[in-house]
Amino acid sequence: MNHASSAVKVLVAVILIASCRGVADESSLYGSVPAVRHLTGRFDPAKHELFVCLNDVGIPTNNRRHYVRREAAAALKDLYTAFRKEHPTIPFWVQSSFRGFDDQKYIWDGKWTGTIEVAGHRLNTIRDPRKRALEILKYSAMPGTSRHHWGADFDINVLNNNYFETGEGRVLYRWLTANAGRYGFCQPYTAGRSGGYSVEKWHWSYAPLAKKFLAGWNAHYRKSPGDFSREGLFCGSDLTGDLAPVYVNSIDAACE
Ligand SMILES: [Zn+2]
Repeated sequence: MNHASSAVKVLVAVILIASCRGVADESSLYGSVPAVRHLTGRFDPAKHELFVCLNDVGIPTNNRRHYVRREAAAALKDLYTAFRKEHPTIPFWVQSSFRGFDDQKYIWDGKWTGTIEVAGHRLNTIRDPRKRALEILKYSAMPGTSRHHWGADFDINVLNNNYFETGEGRVLYRWLTANAGRYGFCQPYTAGRSGGYSVEKWHWSYAPLAKKFLAGWNAHYRKSPGDFSREGLFCGSDLTGDLAPVYVNSIDAACE
């Protein structure tokens, strides 16, 4: 009897510890924001306890306030310090980092309606909604599907691949491709992928966090695909939202 009741107590304790761990893991990854809101950029990073402002940790930016996850900022600081030691005068700054759902919706809807031009073209002249979406998706994500929602992704210096092919940009890019992995960073949009967004030499991702967010995003999509293709989410969402998982997952193997 005693043995049996001890065994039950041990079992209950194990279950309690396991379930508490489960809760702790979830909250340590997403903090006080529900997972789905974090994964789809529907929160204010300035008020999130797991985010810090890059300007406060000594990483150069384009003079905007950039809020990113604390671990990603620490790793980027280490990377930046190492780069600066080797190249004291080559420019390095964060051009963009976290973007919320509404920021991404502004970009997407602007490109969809033609108020924001894409390479000098107004895409609202493309009548087929899927063709129009595919043009936008060369470089811009649908709201709710951008890696920039996660606070672990950075655009460095200039959002133009040509910049990284000559001069100072080339020095920086070569250094990053050789060294960024040592600090936990991967490059999601490399050449040679079979689909997804175009090459983005400026976009770098803090893999230890971003891989967890990617898994979380995919789990959420599998459970609730309608959350990405309901009418009214963003322009054309009901006609094109099913393209989202292809673009989220067409990334370099180092970021998977
Ligand atoms: Zn980017």
